Amino acid sequence: MSNSETLFQRAQNIIPGGVNSPVRAFNGVGGGPLFIERAQDAYIFDADKKQYIDYVGSWGPMILGHNHPEIKKAVIEAAENGLSFGAPTEIEITMAEKVKSLVPSMEQLRMVSSGTEATMSAIRLARGYTNRDKILKFEGCYHGHADSLLVKAGSGALTLGQPSSPGIPADFAQHTLTADYNDLASVEALFKAYPGQISCIIVEPVAGNMNCIPPAPGFLQGLREICDKEEALLILDEVMTGFRVALGGAQAYYDVVPDLTTLGKVIGGGMPVGAFGGKKEVMQHIAPTGPVYQAGTLSGNPIAMAAGLASLNALDTPEYKYLAEKTEKLALGLQQVAKEEGVALAVNYVGGMFGFFFTDAEKVTNFADVCKCDIDKFKKFFHLMLAEGVYLAPSAFEAGFLSLAHTDQDIEDTLQAAKRAFAQL
Ligand code: PMP
Repeated sequence: MSNSETLFQRAQNIIPGGVNSPVRAFNGVGGGPLFIERAQDAYIFDADKKQYIDYVGSWGPMILGHNHPEIKKAVIEAAENGLSFGAPTEIEITMAEKVKSLVPSMEQLRMVSSGTEATMSAIRLARGYTNRDKILKFEGCYHGHADSLLVKAGSGALTLGQPSSPGIPADFAQHTLTADYNDLASVEALFKAYPGQISCIIVEPVAGNMNCIPPAPGFLQGLREICDKEEALLILDEVMTGFRVALGGAQAYYDVVPDLTTLGKVIGGGMPVGAFGGKKEVMQHIAPTGPVYQAGTLSGNPIAMAAGLASLNALDTPEYKYLAEKTEKLALGLQQVAKEEGVALAVNYVGGMFGFFFTDAEKVTNFADVCKCDIDKFKKFFHLMLAEGVYLAPSAFEAGFLSLAHTDQDIEDTLQAAKRAFAQL
């Protein structure tokens, strides 16, 4: 038995499914997970000392590559002063100012410790601000695992075939309305059916939890217009896209200004950080300036802030443009080698994220399209690539991530591995 297999057996006795977050268990592809010992640059090393080119990047945060020297230094230096104070610190201001400088629609923002907390808090704020109970989300979009949001959700919820989770009272779920991604008419129909009752639209501006689905031209602008007309708030959930699709997030890339933005992943540089923010007038409704309650013992934690700030500073350089170039090279290369091997493959990519689909369809634009793809082929491809030393997201419903540490050689090696894998499908 491999060391990963031994560890997985031990883990399953004490941790449900052996993992602290479901998709890690590889239930989307079968077989047990790799246990990871360490990671450096674009590579992860498992408990059996095998090296892999990593396209998961801890599900997004490791945009600079693993174990980046400036982030490591910042964390070690901050740790010298103590791990947590539960009182304000200067670095929280510096961090908030840095985020605002990159994402100007976030006139004010608050730090939390995960993406789930960010979206949960933003939804509560939208409801408190508008005095309306209903929210509108899209089928296949995932916004963390808060009760209101785990309705027709993406990500691990799809891998388990349970997009709406047991344990969420029907009384809660009835306030979550779901529309079809890239379909403005389905949004308008819901506003018509529930006049004056919808507090906000929350959307992944590039959907990354049903694989990778970019917004159709005009989709995000259309949502903005509907929100303006209906006096609802537009929440862009940029937990995944923030600092990844562009330094200013998808809102900069697609030129759309939300009322509220949620962030996670990259903002923490690998430490548990999330944030939500937006119009000052709306943010002033949060306690202690306003009545909408939100809090956190470890929110704005100094070590987490040090990692996040170092990460954003290291990212905010002219080199950033290479992220999109590398991603395009990989995406187009995959399409090319698939074609050479006679495998029908559609590829989507934006900025530093990508997705590929085993399908004859030329375009994959929503959840229904994703469901028509050949999942069994994906599973086979995943395992062939793993054997080749390439670590892809272990689910057909997750986006892939590049980092600035991926070299041209890494991408070339990946494409050669993919060519061999496609040949065996
Ligand atoms: N929103 C989006 C768009 C996400 O991709 C995720 C996580 N994949 C979340 C929210 C939840 O973030 P977290 O896992 O940090 O709670």
